[in-house]
Amino acid sequence: MFTWLNASMTRKISSLSFVLLAFLFIVILYTAYKSQKIHKDIQEVSKIDIPLLEVIADIEILQLKQHLQMETIRLKGDAFFKSEALKSKSVKRFNEFNYHLSGQLDKAVNILHQGMKFGTVRIGVDEHLSLIEQINKLHSHRIAFEDEFSQFIESDNTGYESSWEALEKQDSLLDDEANDLLINIDQLTVKVASLVEQQELDFMIMNAILGLSALVIGGYLTLYTILSFRRKVGALRGQIETLHRTISPDEDSHISRHQGSDELDELERDLKLLMGRLFLEKENRDEVETQLLELATRDKLTGVFNRHKWDEHIKDELALANRGHHFSLILLDVDHFKKINDTYGHDVGDTVLKLLVKALKRRLRETDILFRVGGEEFAILLRDTHLEDASRLAEQLRRKVEAIDEDNVPQFTISLGVTEYQNSDNQKSIVKRADVLLYEAKDAGRNSVFSG
Ligand code: GH3
Ligand code: MG
Ligand code: MG
Repeated sequence: MFTWLNASMTRKISSLSFVLLAFLFIVILYTAYKSQKIHKDIQEVSKIDIPLLEVIADIEILQLKQHLQMETIRLKGDAFFKSEALKSKSVKRFNEFNYHLSGQLDKAVNILHQGMKFGTVRIGVDEHLSLIEQINKLHSHRIAFEDEFSQFIESDNTGYESSWEALEKQDSLLDDEANDLLINIDQLTVKVASLVEQQELDFMIMNAILGLSALVIGGYLTLYTILSFRRKVGALRGQIETLHRTISPDEDSHISRHQGSDELDELERDLKLLMGRLFLEKENRDEVETQLLELATRDKLTGVFNRHKWDEHIKDELALANRGHHFSLILLDVDHFKKINDTYGHDVGDTVLKLLVKALKRRLRETDILFRVGGEEFAILLRDTHLEDASRLAEQLRRKVEAIDEDNVPQFTISLGVTEYQNSDNQKSIVKRADVLLYEAKDAGRNSVFSG
């Protein structure tokens, strides 16, 4: 039971559906079985009991007629024997009675025999058999009565009284036997009918129980499916709303209150809206990331890469050089920059730095990378460049800077130290070499290029 509660929704629904189908299958099987049984019972009623009841009715009428006949003879008394007409009329009527009674009894025996033969009799087989016996007994009484009646008719005027008594006795025996038979047939038909009724009632009760159980299971299944579905969709929408709030906490998130044609429709719309917001959010974040990256790697004043980027880059460049690539390095520093600041002010100093970068960039190639590594100190990485070309370029840069002529800005110069990658160089060694050369240039009087 507990494992079932933890099973997935699909498993729960399929297991409940299976139980429901099993119930329906049982209902169908039970209905078929019971219908078959009830059909047989009804067949017994219609093919045996109803015809037997008809026979009973006919026998009862015959009995009545016979009573009338006997009563007429008794009343007439002597006159009966004196009138040949009455006698022959009575003989005729008696023969009719005898003929019809015999016919009805044969009919009853036939009905019962047929039933036994085709297996139609299912209820009270023994009672049916004893009925046959009883009918046969009635037959013998009828024959005995027939004999007595013949003797009575043939008796003369003087001896008729004793014959009459014997006849009346036989008549009452026949009557009693017939009544017993009628009662037994009646009881049997009532029993059969009540058993059929019981069968029908059982059938109805059982089917009602099975149907009700199937209804309860079906109802529970439907309710459970709807509730689970709604709970899950609700939980999903709740999560979407939370996500919305996380993405944009300031916005009033009416996201989950969209009215759609159904829950899935609403969920789809919520998801689409969420996707849209996520996409926008991603774009914003990418932009901010790029800006942050720029801020983190670029120098604010001049726009060239900063010291942090320089540290990263020189490491990569050295790694490449170790695998066979070549590069050169220029370190340059503005001459007497402190003096410019002191004389013209810090702003002019800043302008000098910007003009310097502008001049350097104009001369450098796309693959040459410029870094501001200190206050007025810059580094240039020259990929696939040997010392000779790097020195030539440094000289050109020196001249370019020297030639800068801007209003309200003093002329200024730079000193440069140039070196190239040497086997087993690391960051410290190559920078140190360039730095030493730069200071040699300073020592030599500034505005000059030293390489090595
Ligand atoms: P040298 O020729 O030996 O290089 O002398 P110098 O005066 O250029 O060198 P020093 O290191 O003594 O002075 C560098 C000055 O650069 C000191 C500092 O105030 C100034 N400086 C550093 N960063 C900036 C900046 O961003 N803007 C301005 N205007 N000045 C800066
Ligand atoms: Mg300096
Ligand atoms: Mg300087």
